[in-house]
Amino acid sequence: MAVKSITESIRSVGAWVGIPIHVWIVAEQDGVTLVDTGMSFMARSILKEIDRLNAGPLRRIVLTHGHADHVGGLKSVLRERDVPVYMHAAEIPYAEGDLAYPGKDRAHAHVEKGILRPLSAVEGRDGRAERIGSLTPYFTPGHSPGHVVYFHEKDRVLLAGDLFNSKKGRLAQARFTPDPDLALRSANILRRLDPERMEVCHGDTVFRPAGQLADLEAEVRQTREAEARMQALKEKKKKGRRG
Ligand SMILES: [Zn+2]
Ligand SMILES: [Zn+2]
Repeated sequence: MAVKSITESIRSVGAWVGIPIHVWIVAEQDGVTLVDTGMSFMARSILKEIDRLNAGPLRRIVLTHGHADHVGGLKSVLRERDVPVYMHAAEIPYAEGDLAYPGKDRAHAHVEKGILRPLSAVEGRDGRAERIGSLTPYFTPGHSPGHVVYFHEKDRVLLAGDLFNSKKGRLAQARFTPDPDLALRSANILRRLDPERMEVCHGDTVFRPAGQLADLEAEVRQTREAEARMQALKEKKKKGRRG
């Protein structure tokens, strides 16, 4: 398990399963906040790293969304530490298996009922939820219906879950994203917050990610146009055969 120091108060714990998977440990005034829990086999290393950080006990777990690779370690962590777990209210029915995630045929319970608490929304503020520890959650749907990112204002670090993937410091669209247009609109959060660095679950650090957003948007647009041209060509051929 790879442990990386992001800033003095933020560390990432990473594993490799063909793709990288990261969770983040944040030192707080009152102890530690864990952001996402990775897969079940990561739980032991996560707990060990929280102890090593020497910043006090684990106080809370906050989740970016409910996909299995982000909540897989939850059960094992909770077995050792009794702490509250937060997620966006819009994501909870999908994570608990009451609704099927968009693009999936069947609902699947990734988290037992009665564990997840909704993040409290801030009235009248576009997508911002109440600060929790040193992190401010922002609603960023698209990859999943209730995806959120967590902004550490003091260190200007965005813990972005699966809002993006990244490779060699470059932004990339997140894989398995059923609503890429919505995800791209949510990505405007980069312009709003202009973080110094962004950490994603599946990828490496992206510095000043807002500066890369226009390139990514253009790339997505080009791919979309190319796909539309291919589709038109196929239709034409089909018609030609019929005629
Ligand atoms: Zn995901
Ligand atoms: Zn993921």
